[in-house]
Amino acid sequence: MADKRIYLDNAATTRVAEEVLQEMLPCFRESYANPSAIYGFAGEAKKAVGIARERAASLIGAKPNEIYFTAGGSESDNWAVRAVAEGLGGKGRHIITSKIEHHAVLHTCQYLEKQGYEVTYLDPDEEGKVSPEALEKAIRPDTILISVMAANNEIGTIEPIAKIGEIAHERGVLFHTDAVQAYGHIPLHVEEMHIDLLSASGHKLYGPKGVGILYCRENLRLAPLLHGGAQERGRRAGTLNVPGIVGFGKAAALAGETMQERGAREMALRNYLIDRVLAEIPYARLNGPRQDRLPGSAHFCFRFIEGESLLILLDQKGICGSSGSACTSGALDPSHVLLAIGLPHEIAHGSLRLTLSAENTREEIDRTVETLKEIVGRLRDMSPLYEDFVRKA
Ligand SMILES: *Cc1c(COP(=O)(O)O)cnc(C)c1O
Repeated sequence: MADKRIYLDNAATTRVAEEVLQEMLPCFRESYANPSAIYGFAGEAKKAVGIARERAASLIGAKPNEIYFTAGGSESDNWAVRAVAEGLGGKGRHIITSKIEHHAVLHTCQYLEKQGYEVTYLDPDEEGKVSPEALEKAIRPDTILISVMAANNEIGTIEPIAKIGEIAHERGVLFHTDAVQAYGHIPLHVEEMHIDLLSASGHKLYGPKGVGILYCRENLRLAPLLHGGAQERGRRAGTLNVPGIVGFGKAAALAGETMQERGAREMALRNYLIDRVLAEIPYARLNGPRQDRLPGSAHFCFRFIEGESLLILLDQKGICGSSGSACTSGALDPSHVLLAIGLPHEIAHGSLRLTLSAENTREEIDRTVETLKEIVGRLRDMSPLYEDFVRKA
């Protein structure tokens, strides 16, 4: 390949798949009508949106009329949590979530706390797993919502959401899951997992940015997000983003067809990456579990290293990685996820997330590991902390 860039930040966003792009293109200049219009020409756009809705639903065992198209994962998370809180505020004002949620959920909960709601933030274990037992203990008569993510975007931990959903339903509490990292990457089923609301986003599964879904169980009265036209069954006004929606649908369909082989390929490459890093770089640790983790996700901490410096030096070698979530990069505070799994600040600072796609190759991983060894060595040579440590050892 002429392009020497190695892209290992697929949890931040993915490259739109060629098949997705091809299906979106006619929506711009051919089937460009407003799907709400009456004339026959609008039928093409309306039909394309209908197909996308079926595809988005079918990937998670939902019905098409349970899918609401949104402008992405953050919007879906905000909507789900607020709609339940505001819709059921009469029944109770207590919400349960975890300390490792995405900020789209955490900050919405903090906003609701200011409005008089009470929120319990569950501690995960050292691998980032939320305990169903602890969750069950936290349920109160006035609990109206449990929101726990399907998989963590930083350290890749897959949460026991089927069990959590079962408990929620036994206790008559609604269950929302932020499935932005999981949807299209691991199997999800809203019935089997007792999910009432689920968020997903197009750009995390080889679809376009700025489009997502909120799945909401049929029998729930979802409070509207945007007032105006009657789009999305009167719950989210605004002319539909037809190209985005069509792209989302195609990405969901492709994910359904290729999930197994793609996942297996990513997992093999990711295990190879993890094994090499842990074997060849001293004082490195893997964050998140070895087994129950997203297929393409690897997340490390390197002691005596500043994560930001590591990223800059990797970038100079054409390697795109991340310290964790895109939202925390640039901030000096260590990640809330790493602190929640019990890492001390000085270790949490030296974090590196590398997230693979099925397009990555073994050669790229080899080059990444070699570069990483060299950079970590160089940074430690300049570190007074490391010098101290070596002298004492
Ligand atoms: C990326 C991400 C979001 C936000 O999705 P956007 O479409 O970028 O708004 C929410 N939750 C998780 C877990 C994510 O990884």
